[in-house]
Amino acid sequence: MKECIFCDRESLEIIAENDLALAFFDACPVSEGHALVIPKRHVETYFDATPEEHGAISLLAGVVKDMLEKELNPDGYNIGANIGPAAGQTVFHFHMHIIPRYRGDVEDPRGGIRKVIPNRSCPRHCNEEKLH
Ligand code: AMP
Ligand code: ZN
Repeated sequence: MKECIFCDRESLEIIAENDLALAFFDACPVSEGHALVIPKRHVETYFDATPEEHGAISLLAGVVKDMLEKELNPDGYNIGANIGPAAGQTVFHFHMHIIPRYRGDVEDPRGGIRKVIPNRSCPRHCNEEKLH
């Protein structure tokens, strides 16, 4: 295995942990408070983690959310994982992004992670204001 930056704990700004998972701030945050939650065990993707690791990651995501609420009081969150290069994954140690969102941080936030492929409008026009 090539060296893994997320297995090199010294380089991470760890903010919380439990028996199977670790949380730390993203080195290049896309919003204030952007954090990552990972299994302590090296696995490449979401689908390689065990149910126990998924449980630990979910619990830790809740802990991180409570910390962010106290410190930054965001208005919302996007959480998710990139799985494979085609989906944008660049670090091949599974990590869940926790991205706090703030009212007005983008002009039109509707759709959130549904907009990872830009300019794909729904043929049924579900995203159009008039239908909501
Ligand atoms: P992805 O593109 O989903 O694989 O995300 C990788 C994430 O890891 C990016 O958001 C990077 O900014 C972040 N990252 C890379 N190296 C580090 C590091 N040493 N500490 C914290 N975050 C990192
Ligand atoms: Zn690793």
